[in-house]
Amino acid sequence: EAKAGGRARYVVFDQHLEQGSRTRSAVGDRLEEAVHDGVIGLELQPIMGGEGYTSVVGWEALARWNDPDLGAVPPDVFVPLAEQLGLIADLGEAVLRRACLDLARLHRLSGEDDLAIFVNVSPAQLWRTDFGAVVRDALSSAGLPGRCLRLELTETLLVDKGSAALGTLEELRALGVAICLDDFGTGYASLATLLRLPIDCVKLDKSLTARLGEDPAAPRQVRAVIDLIVSLGIDLVIAEGVETEEQEQLLHEVGCPMTQGWLYGRPSSFEAVLAARTAPVRPS
Ligand code: C2E
Ligand code: MG
Ligand code: MG
Ligand code: MG
Repeated sequence: EAKAGGRARYVVFDQHLEQGSRTRSAVGDRLEEAVHDGVIGLELQPIMGGEGYTSVVGWEALARWNDPDLGAVPPDVFVPLAEQLGLIADLGEAVLRRACLDLARLHRLSGEDDLAIFVNVSPAQLWRTDFGAVVRDALSSAGLPGRCLRLELTETLLVDKGSAALGTLEELRALGVAICLDDFGTGYASLATLLRLPIDCVKLDKSLTARLGEDPAAPRQVRAVIDLIVSLGIDLVIAEGVETEEQEQLLHEVGCPMTQGWLYGRPSSFEAVLAARTAPVRPS
């Protein structure tokens, strides 16, 4: 009986896989074209710091794909697809180069050269032996110092392949590039990752931020997490997904140094960022 149930589940699973791969190949072909035609774009979202989180300290670059037929495909969909299809190295390199060029232009036009660009990096990019060279070239082509670049890596990558990537991480840090642990608090081995790897910056996942103001225990817990991170010598801590004044107030009370979220600005095009020039006006 149990065996029959098991087999039945396998049949359903197979059907899903088949359906999945059929849709994937159509979308995958479009994605491959988009990557090769260089039409994957970027939006930038401000990261806030300073007194009361009133100054922009940098921008996160978020990949965007607008297909004429499919519409806007979210990165949660096309990034994993690019990983499966072996397109992520090209996609990631294009994002990295564009992000560095955009930041260099922002520096020139705003006169502020302290702003940093935060770029998401996929595991497959980091395993490439020439990733350090790619980063060095992206920086020098844009005329940017390494200290302006922060690479965001997810915990899963670092847990699985951390040791293998260690050499690359050290090479990047030698360029002055900061290594950020993204989505902290969603995995199971956060602490092990923090203790084991050279991390300069931690981004607290928006699921943690969301609990502030909902769960009375959350502020105390978030404070403990931040204290732990800071006690390890990591002073760049960013809360992601800040949407309300209440969350901001609680983050301030628990000593979170930096924030990011819709409260300060949605991800927007380089042109829109440029048009705003100064810190984005907070919605009232
Ligand atoms: P992430 O790196 O954790 O990026 C933060 C996500 O939260 C972004 O979603 C951003 O638009 C969204 N967000 C920002 N503020 C708020 C807020 O206040 N509330 C809520 N609910 N969401 C907020 P997005 O742009 O859809 O990107 C999703 C994920 O796709 C990213 O998560 C990242 O893991 C991945 N991704 C995006 N661009 C790239 C890329 O160039 N390379 C790689 N490897 N991954 C990327
Ligand atoms: Mg990120
Ligand atoms: Mg994140
Ligand atoms: Mg992420």
